[in-house]
Amino acid sequence: MVAGADSRLYLIFLGAPGAGKGTQTAMLSQALGIPRISSGDLFRENIKNQTPLGRQAKAYIDRGELVPDAVTVGMVIHRIAEDDCVRGALFDGFPRTIPQAEALEAALAEQGKTLGAVVDLVVDHEILLERLSGRWMCRGCGASYHLAFHPPKTEGKCDTCSAELYQREDDRADTIEHRLLVYYRQTAPLQNFYRQRGLLYQVNGEQAIEAVQEAVLRVLGVSQPAEYAGFG
Ligand code: ADP
Ligand code: AMP
Repeated sequence: MVAGADSRLYLIFLGAPGAGKGTQTAMLSQALGIPRISSGDLFRENIKNQTPLGRQAKAYIDRGELVPDAVTVGMVIHRIAEDDCVRGALFDGFPRTIPQAEALEAALAEQGKTLGAVVDLVVDHEILLERLSGRWMCRGCGASYHLAFHPPKTEGKCDTCSAELYQREDDRADTIEHRLLVYYRQTAPLQNFYRQRGLLYQVNGEQAIEAVQEAVLRVLGVSQPAEYAGFG
C-alpha cells in the first residue's frame, strides 16, 4: 500500500469538476477512517456562515474562477493542522494550481507528513457536462447525487443525513463550461507535476461508481479497507 512507513495516508484526488472526486473521497473516507478535505466544501461553508473569507471567495466561485492561491492555501493548511488529520487526509479539489501544490508539499513536510499518492480520475469532457448538469448536492453533508447516475433513495433527500438536496449555482451550463476550461488550463498541469514525482495514478473515472472505487483501492494497494482502518 502507499501509506508511509508510519501508516499515515495523505492522498490527493485530482480530476476535472464532475470527475467524481467528491463521490469517491466520501466513500474512501468512510472505508479508511480518515477525513476528506474538500476546498470547495470549506468555501461553501464559509459562504453560508458569511465569514470574511466566504465573502472574498464568493465572487470567484460564482464566475467559475479559481479563488486566489493566497486565500485557498491558508484555509487548507489551517485545516490539515487539525487533530483529525494526524493519521491522514484525502484532498478533494486541492491543490488546483502549481503554487498550491508546492505550498501543500512544504506544509506537509513541515508537519512531518508525506504525500502517499495522487489519484487522477480521468473522464471525457462530454460526460463531465452530463454529470455536472444533473448533479444534486446535500445541504447537510455535501454528498453528491445525480438524477440519472446516482439518484437518492427518496427524491430530494440525502440517503445519509436526510437533509435537502439542491443544485449548485455554479453547476449552470455557462459556468460549467468555464470551470472546465479553467481546469484544463490551470489544474491539468498538475498531472505532470506529480508524474515527475512518481506519485500519479490515473484511474478510468468513466466506470460505475463502485467500479471506480475498486480501481482506486487497487492502485492504492488497499485490498481490505479494514486493514487500514485498524492502523493508528
Ligand atoms: P467532483 O467532486 O469531481 O466535482 P462529484 O463526485 O460531485 O464530482 O460527481 C459529479 C456528478 O457525477 C455527481 O452528480 C455524481 O453523483 C456523479 N457521479 C460521480 N461518479 C460517477 C460515476 N462513476 N458514474 C456516473 N456518475 C457519477
Ligand atoms: P469544487 O467544489 O471543488 O467544484 O469547487 C467549487 C469552486 O470553489 C471552484 O470552482 C473554485 O471557484 C473554488 N475552489 C475550490 N477549490 C479551489 C482551489 N483549490 N483553488 C482555487 N479555487 C478553488
